[in-house]
Amino acid sequence: AKFVYDFTEGNKDLKDLLGGKGANLAEMTNLGLPVPPGFTITTEACKTYLDSGEEPAALRDEVSAHLDALEVTMGKKLGQADDPLLVSVRSGAKFSMPGMMDTVLNIGLSDKSVQGLAKQAGDDRFAWDSYRRLIQMFGKTVLGVDGDLFEEALEAAKTAKKVAVDTELEAADLKKLVTKFKKIVKTEAGRDFPQDPREQMDLAIKAVFESWNGERAKLYRRQERIPHDLGTAVNVCSMVFGNLGPDSGTGVAFTRDPASGHQGVYGDYLQNAQGEDVVAGIRNTVALADLEQIDKKSYDQLMQIMETLENHYLDLCDIEFTIERGQLWMLQTRVGKRTAGAAFRIATQLVDQGLIDEAEALQRVTGAQLAQLMFPRFDDEAKVEKVGRGIAASPGAAVGKAVFDSYTAVKWSRSGEKVILVRRETNPDDLDGMIAAEGILTSRGGKTSHAAVVARGMGKTCVCGAEELEVDTKRRRMTVPGGHVVEEGDVISIDGSSGKVYLGEVPVVPSPVVEYFEGRMHAGAEDADELVEAVHRIMAFADRKRRLRVRANADNAEDALRARRFGAQGIGLCRTEHMFLGDRRELVERLILADTEAVREESLKELLPLQKQDFVQLFESMDGLPVTVRLLDPPLHEFLPDITELSVRVALAESRQEPHENELRLLQAVHRLHEQNPMLGLRGVRLGLVIPGLFTMQVRAIAEAAAERKAAKGDPRAEIMIPLVGTVQELEIVREEADQVIAEVEAATGAKLKLSIGTMIELPRAALTAGQIAEAAEFFSFGTNDLTQTVWGFSRDDVEASFFTAYLEKGIFGVSPFETIDKDGVGSLVAAAAKAGRATRPDLKLGVCGEHGGDPESVHFFHEVGLDYVSCSPFRIPVARLEAGRAAS
Ligand code: ADP
Ligand code: MG
Ligand code: MG
Repeated sequence: AKFVYDFTEGNKDLKDLLGGKGANLAEMTNLGLPVPPGFTITTEACKTYLDSGEEPAALRDEVSAHLDALEVTMGKKLGQADDPLLVSVRSGAKFSMPGMMDTVLNIGLSDKSVQGLAKQAGDDRFAWDSYRRLIQMFGKTVLGVDGDLFEEALEAAKTAKKVAVDTELEAADLKKLVTKFKKIVKTEAGRDFPQDPREQMDLAIKAVFESWNGERAKLYRRQERIPHDLGTAVNVCSMVFGNLGPDSGTGVAFTRDPASGHQGVYGDYLQNAQGEDVVAGIRNTVALADLEQIDKKSYDQLMQIMETLENHYLDLCDIEFTIERGQLWMLQTRVGKRTAGAAFRIATQLVDQGLIDEAEALQRVTGAQLAQLMFPRFDDEAKVEKVGRGIAASPGAAVGKAVFDSYTAVKWSRSGEKVILVRRETNPDDLDGMIAAEGILTSRGGKTSHAAVVARGMGKTCVCGAEELEVDTKRRRMTVPGGHVVEEGDVISIDGSSGKVYLGEVPVVPSPVVEYFEGRMHAGAEDADELVEAVHRIMAFADRKRRLRVRANADNAEDALRARRFGAQGIGLCRTEHMFLGDRRELVERLILADTEAVREESLKELLPLQKQDFVQLFESMDGLPVTVRLLDPPLHEFLPDITELSVRVALAESRQEPHENELRLLQAVHRLHEQNPMLGLRGVRLGLVIPGLFTMQVRAIAEAAAERKAAKGDPRAEIMIPLVGTVQELEIVREEADQVIAEVEAATGAKLKLSIGTMIELPRAALTAGQIAEAAEFFSFGTNDLTQTVWGFSRDDVEASFFTAYLEKGIFGVSPFETIDKDGVGSLVAAAAKAGRATRPDLKLGVCGEHGGDPESVHFFHEVGLDYVSCSPFRIPVARLEAGRAAS
């Protein structure tokens, strides 16, 4: 295999091999944009290295060959004493992992070549500044020295010189700092800073490889569900210098606003600076628009390049660039991260610009983003004290207790507190705290700061650069304008959509997108209108494309009506057990405990009209659309009194010598019916088979309700679903009785009801014998919750809290199988059962009614295996519609 690609050899579609950064550097090179020459070491090389723990011999040779070629192109050798070629060694995986991996700049500088660089540039200060940066970055990321030691030494140098910023340090100061830094390296790493440039490069490459398995990187991947076996590529890129004086600098830019999607000039620029100075907020950046005054020629060129990139990538791009003495260089681009709202707006804007079509627009948004837009927001009307305003970096409304360090954020959130992580700025060490927090607030840094980028990626509320707030992390407090002090533990609220910061708890209101789905959208803020418009159009695209129908899990008319407003095309699961709670519980208790035919029939007779009324309302609310009613499912004990409580009552009555015959009888019955493992006990169809008349009563209620709706000129479309079937014989018995009841109702009312009868497939045996079961079922609905429990053999109620975290941490699953369908196990059973069922009965209707019906990834799977519909909770319906549309385009 080829381990190294020159920038001229790659392209943007080689992200698997070259990583995102490398693939896009190659793409820009081939577009003719000014990219400093270099080459990329592949992810394959990284994987080989990580697997074997050593560098493959072929890799070393290829690197040497490419370095030679680079030296020829540049007309100088790496680290050459009188005129050194310097390079950066940059990580870059397939998926961008902001701030997670390590990059080292200025490789090739040594005690000798620093002199040569100074002479060539005619600038001593610059050369020593570059050298101290190299030792600092190399020391920290390659040799593992605590970065704070360098920072402290730098601070000390500034203090000694009585200056505020690093640019005011002169060559002599920096030279002293280099000596200091080298000492730090020697003491902390137990070795000298390497003077051989090739050794520097090789060590840096290895360090990048190894950073793939660093704790921070692993944590980020788990969060973002990025597979652990991709490896990272390494880019070796010849250096250009933004720290060569005021006519030099470095910056970041977006081709559109990543928060709103609006076109314009968005970015930050910093004069006389190198690389990460911008993102880290070392000095205050200026707005990108100001570059026009500073260096018009470079500014114009940058604007033009940005347009080229947008038209080429057909999407919002973000960019890193450096200006070296008036010459512009492109150092990175990628399709930029954006907020959920911006994703919808950008997708429709690009359609309007004729750059992409509807199908492509659907690929530019996700169900997860839509779900995010359905979160509530702060109430603008609420009388609260606004104390600051920063940059709206990542939307959402977050309320919590202020904490000033990551450790406390994690600790408090573990004990159930909601916290807002407040920092001057964040860095990768804050990641745990950012994950634990409801939201993140910083007083420094712009839209491209670490806090902003990472929070957007996580979908977490973030306000950054709220400069009026004086954050004192040491004393764990912040001072707001006017002098009020927020101590650790005081509640604050932050609005990531407006950038506003409030004292105390601000009440929240529903999102405009939900208001839109509810049909209650009133023209509010202009911001909201634009978003709603975009969501409306994207949903229309999705509805046009999708093959899967989307139904709701709803048990009552109110939920059904909401589901309809959200676009439900029927009810996929109406659970009847809720209809037996409350006042009716006593009736059910009597039914279960009945020891004579007469008592049983009496209770059934009382339940019938109540059930019927439930269904009349439901069929009315879903008129014209299918409603799948599941006959009673839950374990019996849920309807009976608690065994301990009852025992106490009986014992008490006994000791007081009070009459307690009834309690005793009840207790005996409860004992008789007590189950060790009720989830695998007397439930579902089993219950229907042992309690005579229960299921037929429910079927009668459904049939009579349907007949009543027909008489009222309605269009009821009921489907009767039998739960927990394991063998076709169970279904046949229930079916026979049901058919008879339906015939009776039809005869009595003269209505032609056309009720269909089907079953849930939620036991492995049902799935394995689906071909037989389909003989007695007109439809299957996959109950993927129970199917997951029974296929894996774990009880959802118990395992999620006990060992799932450990499993997730160990990477046994990337995500809980209760959240996203386990394609290989449960999923393959679903696919096989669907196939076998249809082989028996070609017009068998197939759906899914577990939680998975509203999970984006699972929806794609159900589309692929050819189901007819998914059913999910009303609130997830828009997400399912969108994902079904995405799956089909
Ligand atoms: P990250 O993935 O964290 O953004 P990068 O590899 O992009 O890391 O590098 C960090 C910083 O160094 C960026 O600001 C980048 O523009 C800058 N940089 C990287 N390579 C060079 C180079 N060859 N010349 C000048 N600046 C560079
Ligand atoms: Mg970068
Ligand atoms: Mg079930």
